[in-house]
Amino acid sequence: MATRIATLGSHSALQILKGARDEGFRTIAVCEKNREEPYKRFKVADRIITLNSFKEFPSVENELISENAIVIPHGSFTGAMSTEQIERLKVSYFGNKKILKWETDREMQREWLKKAGLTLPRIFRNPEDIDVPSIIKFYGAKGGKGFFLAKSGSEFERKIKEHHGKAYIIQEYIVGAPIYIHYFYSPLNDEVEVMSFDKRYESNVDSIGRIAAKDQLDMGLDTSYNITGNVPMVVRESLLPEIFRMGEAVVAASKAIEKRGIFGPFSLETVITPDLKFYVFEVSARIVAGTNPYINGSPYTDLKYSEPMSTGRRISREIKNAIASNQVERVLG
Ligand code: AMP
Repeated sequence: MATRIATLGSHSALQILKGARDEGFRTIAVCEKNREEPYKRFKVADRIITLNSFKEFPSVENELISENAIVIPHGSFTGAMSTEQIERLKVSYFGNKKILKWETDREMQREWLKKAGLTLPRIFRNPEDIDVPSIIKFYGAKGGKGFFLAKSGSEFERKIKEHHGKAYIIQEYIVGAPIYIHYFYSPLNDEVEVMSFDKRYESNVDSIGRIAAKDQLDMGLDTSYNITGNVPMVVRESLLPEIFRMGEAVVAASKAIEKRGIFGPFSLETVITPDLKFYVFEVSARIVAGTNPYINGSPYTDLKYSEPMSTGRRISREIKNAIASNQVERVLG
């Protein structure tokens, strides 16, 4: 039976399924009840399987195996299942599952990025040590919800009260331009590609600048970073050499920490300071939603491919190339 491409109906599924169709695959969307509509309306799925919750995903595994499906992971996947649950899945899975724990465990992630020689914001293990403006982030927080800023230990103690019991990390806040870099690494031809860039559109932080500072104070506003969408962008061209270098360093370091390393799409979340230094505060070891503006390709994929190439489509292209050269196991984890 021909290979099918399956993913969860959320996050970047429209792009993944459309890209799979463009590469000639039939597609399956596994949706949560009452959230099937976009996948029907945009006609990207040949089949829709409905679950009460994504957490029930293991219950459709055998069905997907019998459909000869390859599952493409994205952010909702890692949100719905633990790393261990994902590792136990038997259905074909695009990407290296073993790298997931290096993303979800913030300490391990830091070790990976340091090994790649990247510049990271400082971490404060003890709130009393906070001596610069810092951002407090919760583990597994969905899209930055609830993150807050603190300039001192006492401000931290006052604000953390609302979030009691949640695991967090305190990171130096880097003032600069946030830029999210989208890469794709192909193990078949050993090349790191720059696919695109985005910046985020977050509530309420992206509208605070519309209010005068005096009114902000009067209103007693606190910033929050709940993601609502992504804005496409291009970078200053002279930054590209460093961007390629960082992507290659992350791939090389991934091979040092985990035998097969990372392959497929990944992203670096960075802030560029006024002296044009990149601070990397996170790596995502999978497709990120910031690639969604580029269903029809980005300026960078346009330079490389003479056809619309989204990151979703690039995944299916990789699978197609792997199947054609009899090495599909090289892109499965
Ligand atoms: P995250 O969920 O880690 O992507 O972060 C959510 C938001 O916080 C994004 O707008 C980031 O730009 C911002 N952010 C996260 N960490 C830092 C940092 N260390 N310095 C400045 N901004 C940050």
